[in-house]
Amino acid sequence: DIRVRFAPSPTGQIHIGNIRTALFTWLYARKHNGTTVLRIEDTDQERSTSEFEEIILQETDWLGLDWDEGVRAGGDYGPYRQSDRLDIYDKYIDRLIEEDKAYYCYCTDEELEQMREEAKAKGKPPKYNGRCRNLSEEERKELEAEGREPAVRFKMPTEEIKIVVNDLVHGEVEFSSEVLDDFVIVKSDGLPTYNFAVVIDDHLMEISHVIRGEDHLSNTPKQQLIYDALDWEMPEFGHLPMILGEDKSKLSKRSGEAYVYVSEYRQKGYLPEALINFLALLGWSSADDEELFTVEEIIDNFSMERVNNSPSVFDVEKLNWMNGHHIRESELDRIVDLAIPYLQEAGYIADELSDEEYNYVAQIVDVVRDSLDYVAQITDHVDIFFGELEYENKEEVIDCFQQEDVDLVLETLKDRLAVLDDYSPDSVLEEMRAILNDLPVGGRLFYHPTRYALTGKGSGPELYQVVSILGKEETINRLDKALN
Ligand code: GLU
Repeated sequence: DIRVRFAPSPTGQIHIGNIRTALFTWLYARKHNGTTVLRIEDTDQERSTSEFEEIILQETDWLGLDWDEGVRAGGDYGPYRQSDRLDIYDKYIDRLIEEDKAYYCYCTDEELEQMREEAKAKGKPPKYNGRCRNLSEEERKELEAEGREPAVRFKMPTEEIKIVVNDLVHGEVEFSSEVLDDFVIVKSDGLPTYNFAVVIDDHLMEISHVIRGEDHLSNTPKQQLIYDALDWEMPEFGHLPMILGEDKSKLSKRSGEAYVYVSEYRQKGYLPEALINFLALLGWSSADDEELFTVEEIIDNFSMERVNNSPSVFDVEKLNWMNGHHIRESELDRIVDLAIPYLQEAGYIADELSDEEYNYVAQIVDVVRDSLDYVAQITDHVDIFFGELEYENKEEVIDCFQQEDVDLVLETLKDRLAVLDDYSPDSVLEEMRAILNDLPVGGRLFYHPTRYALTGKGSGPELYQVVSILGKEETINRLDKALN
């Protein structure tokens, strides 16, 4: 059975790199009819909060990444929050200590600091020197009597060994035990460390594939040693390449204009399916190099073999292009509903809309959505449809034509549109073409002053669409205004 997990720590807003991990994990399961598990890794109690846990659920929900088991869905392998599993970890700690594969360490922070200083002075890597590794029962009692709270350390093999991580993305990666020391598996506050808890949980939850960011590759040898010590079979590992900002440094708040938190994309009006399309291509590619996919198509095409092992660059322009595509592919109503809050926020429309007002907004969204990278940009494109029209430099724009010609164009337009009954886009288009045809002027002399008269701008949506949306009364008003 394929069982995968997404195991975020609820210590902050959910980063784009984390959500890419969540996505690939989810895609792998959906592709292979596997089970997705959401496990909350909150053993860092100072930094973990339930608000952040809530945000993780909210953002993954928004993207449509659903968890078959987890903190909310429940399941047979729970609890799914590490802070609710402390007694489970205790059991395995006891076992490792009993089997002499782990030991209590009483060193204080100051002593450890001093150890590091000494190693540094000798030009050695700052490793734990094994001071508590062979304490006698008596020595332990004495240290405990001093009131010291012990941590628990994992006993590394004394001779140097090679640890080979077999990774689905990177192939065989070799680590030497030289670089590792007797690492802490339980902190002196009694809480397990990440490297320990993750092994216990992945094993007990019967995780078959651990898919996570490359930043965890260097933790994997430690985890493998724990699997070995407990005589457990290892899951498969797949470490996803790093995501870099456009300046090729690690994607962070400072990387150009890329937002690093998922919530920021949601708030700007990016579509979840567009973000999924984009994130899927950060590390994965399809066999035929296609770029635009629906979520279903990505699931169908997804494979870990096609995940590459070099870092991917987060290209905001590409994301915008993709999002624009998905906005145009989407049902209109959905984009209208997404657009309304931005229009309300900007003061264009009221908090409550009548059916008529809703339809007005829908017509506008229909004609301007082609220009959008993300829905929040709608407010930059709609002023021509709301409120009183002000011309900024009417003389300059209209006077560049012979004034009589302009008057003739606008007068004719006004007369003919005043008697037009059907203001549907098709009907307006047909009538405007007929007017142009009947006038002794070319297209430019017709469209340019008309556009300026009706919108006060040099560019925008197709004019027949504008007229159709504005309706007869407002169209005639604006033509009057331009003529005066
Ligand atoms: N809690 C870890 C993190 O957020 C999980 C790493 C893992 O998937 O093993 O990075």
